[in-house]
Amino acid sequence: GAMRHLPYFCRGEVVKGFGRGSKELGIPTANFSEQVVESFPSDIPTGIYYGWACVGNGDVHKMVLSIGWNPFYKNIKKSVETHIIHTFKEDFYGEILSIVITGYIRPEKNFDSLDALISAIQEDIEEAKRQLDLPEHLKLKEDNFFHLPEGKVVNNH
Ligand code: ADP
Ligand code: MG
Repeated sequence: GAMRHLPYFCRGEVVKGFGRGSKELGIPTANFSEQVVESFPSDIPTGIYYGWACVGNGDVHKMVLSIGWNPFYKNIKKSVETHIIHTFKEDFYGEILSIVITGYIRPEKNFDSLDALISAIQEDIEEAKRQLDLPEHLKLKEDNFFHLPEGKVVNNH
C-alpha cells in the first residue's frame, strides 16, 4: 500500500494545471510537471495524502496532496497536486515546491455533488492538520530537505 513509500520527498517546479477550478472552490492545488509525476514510484496508490510543503525558501506549511488520474491525458497518466494549508498573497507558478508526504488519508472517490466534494476535502484538511501535529509527522517539518542549497531559485513567501 501507500505506507511503504512514505515518507516521500519531492521537489519540482509548479506548473499550470488543467483548470478544474480548484481555486474557485477555495482549494487551489499547485501542480507538478509531468516529468516530476513520472519520477514517482509507479505503484504508489492514487488517493489523498498529507505532509509538509515549502515554496522556494519560504516557511514550511501543512499540506494535503492528491495523487490522481489526470483527465488531460485521458486518465492514463497521474497528476500530483498539493494544496498548501496557508493563505498566500500571490500565485507561485514557476517556483520550486518542496514537499514531504508523511501520511495517507483515503483513496480517490467520486462525489455525487460539488458540495459533497468540498465537504470531503474540508474533512481531509482537518484530518491532515490533526495528524501533522503528532510527533512522528511533526518531526519531518524540520527536515534538512527544506533547506535549499544556496544558489537555487529562491523567492520569499
Ligand atoms: P491550476 O489548474 O493551474 O493548478 P488551481 O486553481 O489549482 O490552478 O490553482 C493553483 C495555483 O494557485 C498554484 O499553482 C499556486 O500558484 C496558487 N496558489 C495560491 N495559494 C495556494 C495554496 N494555498 N496552495 C496551492 N496553490 C496555491
Ligand atoms: Mg491545480
